[in-house]
Amino acid sequence: MKNGKRILRCGALFLGSAAFLSLLLCAARRAEPAVPAFSPAGEEATLWVDGTAVAGVFRGGRHYADAEAFLAALDADFWRGEKDALRRSLGGARTLCAEDFCRAHGVGLYGEGGAELWCTSAAGDWEIPPGVRVPALMYHGVGDECWTSPELFTRPDDLRAQLRWLLDNGYTPIFFEDLKHADAIEKPVLLTFDDSFRDNYTELFPILREYGVKATLFVIQGTIGWDANLSAAQLREMLASGLVRAECHTQYHCFLDELPDGQLNEELTWSKVGLTKLSGRIPCAIAYPAGREDARAVAICRREYRFGVKMGGPVYVTGEDPFFFHRIAVPRGILLADFAARLRAAEG
Ligand SMILES: [Zn+2]
Repeated sequence: MKNGKRILRCGALFLGSAAFLSLLLCAARRAEPAVPAFSPAGEEATLWVDGTAVAGVFRGGRHYADAEAFLAALDADFWRGEKDALRRSLGGARTLCAEDFCRAHGVGLYGEGGAELWCTSAAGDWEIPPGVRVPALMYHGVGDECWTSPELFTRPDDLRAQLRWLLDNGYTPIFFEDLKHADAIEKPVLLTFDDSFRDNYTELFPILREYGVKATLFVIQGTIGWDANLSAAQLREMLASGLVRAECHTQYHCFLDELPDGQLNEELTWSKVGLTKLSGRIPCAIAYPAGREDARAVAICRREYRFGVKMGGPVYVTGEDPFFFHRIAVPRGILLADFAARLRAAEG
């Protein structure tokens, strides 16, 4: 595993919005099938490892997990040979101290108070074939009505026309992880929608189904469930369709280059944890709010994600730095001829 995966962050207690509580409820529902069989004396804890619930216990300020389940969930490759040394006995059960293990092996570990931890690995060890041009289109809302800046809302009929044009001209809408096979895809294009507006469910989702195309939502994780934003249920329904991926757009859309270090880390890592809990899939991409980042933010993103996505700029070509993945903005009212011209320019 590359990218380091070096972060340990335990004990932080986040008691945020109602949206976050809804995520916890979703996580609790996911936990139901995995009834802990491991219960040495101590407070029962659930360790979620890459979306998998692992039996555990919280005792003496430390989290312990059933050794076999914990290691299996993490993937054996990077602990082989150290298994016995890391094992401990707790109440007669063979366990691992989650904190120690993660510190030793560079796995992200995020505490949420006493009884639940999340453990995620850095996303995207995979290699990407170089030299493939990948236009990434940037949208936000979809709707005839505009309740905030009009340029953020593409009219549904315009979007239909744009999708038809893409399909008629041989483009293949893909997800970020499809870039693993970028050289085998005919004219890949990424359709991205930022800010997780509720119209992504009411307006965009039916259109995606109509055309059977893939789209990526850059979700502001902390706003899930807010009035103008997607609910958890809506997002889960979209994800279950197979046409939609949820990637990160931070927790609250703060400008990363203005944040103190601690808050910067939370914006970039808690959103990843929250989306992992909601979807059971670890996000691999993050879109920097307003395209703004700095060296600190990019360093954290290199550890936690596989792609860092900007706003404007030249078309991304695989092999270039994936943390400066530029996109093509599609403003409201753009003529189809201008849309086509932007794509053709991106073809090089
Ligand atoms: Zn945004």
